[in-house]
Amino acid sequence: MDAKASILNVIHAITIDKSATLWDAVTSSVVYNALLLQNANVVAVFKERTANAQVECREISLHNPPRRAFGFELLTCGKEGCGRIPYSMPVIGPDGWGRFNFECSTCGWTSRAVSSKEVESYVHLVHSRYPFVYWHDYPPHVALSALFL
Ligand SMILES: [Zn+2]
Repeated sequence: MDAKASILNVIHAITIDKSATLWDAVTSSVVYNALLLQNANVVAVFKERTANAQVECREISLHNPPRRAFGFELLTCGKEGCGRIPYSMPVIGPDGWGRFNFECSTCGWTSRAVSSKEVESYVHLVHSRYPFVYWHDYPPHVALSALFL
């Protein structure tokens, strides 16, 4: 399934079926599209159809070391003045306690190792049946990055 097919599934679910919430329609379509998530992350901007709903912006991505840990990519090197280039912070792990950390391939700095328990306030499984598909607010909360620094 490609990105176009996923988008058509979402449109069908929210305009014809109308049984799913917008978030459920997006996540249901995305989790079945492994090829899409292996090549890209999905950012969904939506507002549910309920009275008090607010606009949400969430990123759905894979836990797929060395690219991402818990669907998250650390964009900041912890060494001041490092001229880090994009995608140069591979994930290392898991260690013996199931923790992951990032290592800057530009300067060699290594982040603090973090477990799934430590990130659970900021990073969430899309569905328990898909243990490698996560979502987090987009852009990620600064406290999530701070866990690794
Ligand atoms: Zn660095």
